[in-house]
Amino acid sequence: MILIDGKKEAAELRETLKYEVSELKEKFNKVPGLTVILIGEMAPSQIYVRNKEKSANEVGLKSEVIRYPEAIEEKIVLEKIKELNNDENVSGILVQLPLPKHIDKQKVIEAILPEKDVDGFHPMNVGNLSSGYESSVPCTPLGCYLLIKKIEPNLSGKKAVMIGRSNLNGKPMTQLLLKENCTVTITHSKTKDLKAECLEADIIVAAVGIPELVKADWVKKDAIVIDVGINKTEKGIVGDVDFKEVSKIAKALTPVPGGVGPMTIACLLKNTIECFKRSQR
Ligand code: NAD
Repeated sequence: MILIDGKKEAAELRETLKYEVSELKEKFNKVPGLTVILIGEMAPSQIYVRNKEKSANEVGLKSEVIRYPEAIEEKIVLEKIKELNNDENVSGILVQLPLPKHIDKQKVIEAILPEKDVDGFHPMNVGNLSSGYESSVPCTPLGCYLLIKKIEPNLSGKKAVMIGRSNLNGKPMTQLLLKENCTVTITHSKTKDLKAECLEADIIVAAVGIPELVKADWVKKDAIVIDVGINKTEKGIVGDVDFKEVSKIAKALTPVPGGVGPMTIACLLKNTIECFKRSQR
């Protein structure tokens, strides 16, 4: 079984991006800039943003974090986004989710210029991705995609089962697999026989949020299994896949932690660089 080492893959990707940033600096005499807006004091968001800032600096991006208190008015956030949209030193804008209840998430997402939407959540990017056009792709599915491609460069005709249909993970992931000519089945909480669907799959991507949902007898021998889930349990953080048992069957499997997670941040940096490059054309 191939244990997919997301930490190693992310480190390699960051090295490539670092080199790319130095080349861009030489060519354009400036580096891509990422601005993150963080609202409130939620501990996980604080950690994510700190890691994003650290990784951005590591590859040589210009990074900035704008922090607002929990009670900040929506209007002020929208005005700031407008200002950042017009700032040519800002290549990418990310508003860390979740947002406080009084702030309309969709309004915020749509306020970001699609060209600077490094999360790939703007409807314009969602539409472009599903139409097969150039777009920012949400970071976690992009990371999963790169991990899958490393194991199996030719995905044409493979059967892929996506578990979960969220805008963040499931839907964009299915678009990436479709683009690779996979035959994709999207499953979700109302799917009648999830096990039977999974047993058909050459590739399973699980983004559900249920600890160890995917069992060994759901997995076809030699399947590639990508575990997006992050679940806090009594025995620590586990994924949506029963790692110990599935590792005896699968051809390749991502661990949790240390699989998809590290790729997510590396892909955010990749998206920022792509936005910069498109802005220089
Ligand atoms: P979500 O709650 O938005 O969506 C979950 C999906 O799972 C839904 O589409 C739902 O229909 C489906 N689902 C629920 N119960 C099901 C069941 N019994 N059988 C089949 N499908 C079922 O979640 P999300 O935002 O997509 O996140 C999913 C998981 O991925 C969470 O554990 C989250 O913490 C994790 N996550 C990890 C990363 C990362 O970087 N590794 C990034 C984002 C999210």
